[in-house]
Amino acid sequence: MAHPTDTLPLRKIIHIDMDAFYASVEQRDNPDLLGKPVAVGGSRARGVVAAASYEARVYGVRSAMASVTALRKCPDLIFVKPRFDVYKAVSAQIRTVFAEYTDQIEPLSLDEAYLDVTQNQLGLPSATEIAGQIKAKVRELTGLTASAGVSYNKFLAKLASDHRKPDGLFVIKPADGPVFVETLSVGQFHGIGRVTAEKMNALGIFTGLDLRQQSEEFLGRHFGKAGRYYFQIARGIDDRPVNPDRVRKSVGSENTFEHDLIDLPDLEIGLQPLIADVWQYCQTRTISARTVTLKVKYADFRQVTRSRTMLSAFDSQASITSVVGELVQTLLPLSQGVRLLGVSLSTLNVGVSETGRQLSLF
Ligand SMILES: [Mg+2]
Repeated sequence: MAHPTDTLPLRKIIHIDMDAFYASVEQRDNPDLLGKPVAVGGSRARGVVAAASYEARVYGVRSAMASVTALRKCPDLIFVKPRFDVYKAVSAQIRTVFAEYTDQIEPLSLDEAYLDVTQNQLGLPSATEIAGQIKAKVRELTGLTASAGVSYNKFLAKLASDHRKPDGLFVIKPADGPVFVETLSVGQFHGIGRVTAEKMNALGIFTGLDLRQQSEEFLGRHFGKAGRYYFQIARGIDDRPVNPDRVRKSVGSENTFEHDLIDLPDLEIGLQPLIADVWQYCQTRTISARTVTLKVKYADFRQVTRSRTMLSAFDSQASITSVVGELVQTLLPLSQGVRLLGVSLSTLNVGVSETGRQLSLF
């Protein structure tokens, strides 16, 4: 198979990622927090850490960690309530900086984006130079540091931005891409989550090099459609374009239970973490949703879905819980045990687009 760079002009991709974004904003705005372990998120029993300062990370505190776990790892941890309005405003600021260079901007979240600067507004030949300028301007404008990764595709640019955090600037040149991937553990690759990494480990695949030694057929057999992506990234190849219109149509969470659920209290307990999960996801990315869908798979694998669309976006986890509760009622009494439950939100809106206007994702 020909390497895409044999046929296509080489692209210049930058991945920008703000350092410990929410936590850094809080430390910037409250000097009392400087140099201290800070977690943005809920401190309550069911709370989750949305972001951790570097001082907190030293103790092993990570985003998406349960707050109780975080507090056990770092008893001096200071919890700060998130201020999404402020994060959104900073996000809009950094996107104005990106827009000075290119309109090929693909935001991944409030603080992360891919930029294709192959053709850039200023006609600058060096993507590394552009990345350096963007970092300096972001710092000047927001008082915050960003890390930048520069490479010839998205996959490597993202790995590069992670390589010298915080305040890093790292370049992976075309000749170095395949070698760079070799020594990394597969869990570090964007698009390989914890579950997939564990599955790979069980197959004896631990590093990029291990992954490269598998045939495309083998990866396809074990990982389906994603197998081809894994085959390519192990070789430093990634043809995905930077997509300024990237949209996400739904956010979902589901769980298959070890024992079938048989009554309403069972269902309520099973649904709780799924609802918390999708709500948390939307909160940390400032996505709002108007439609909730309940998915139920019975013991005989028959599947039903029930959904409801509201006039305005859900404004709390409790409001989702209450509508899901009503949807569950329509399925009672249960004709048989339930093996899987899923909750998803759709009809989504993100808070801010790169131009700062409301962007409808639907
Ligand atoms: Mg970040």
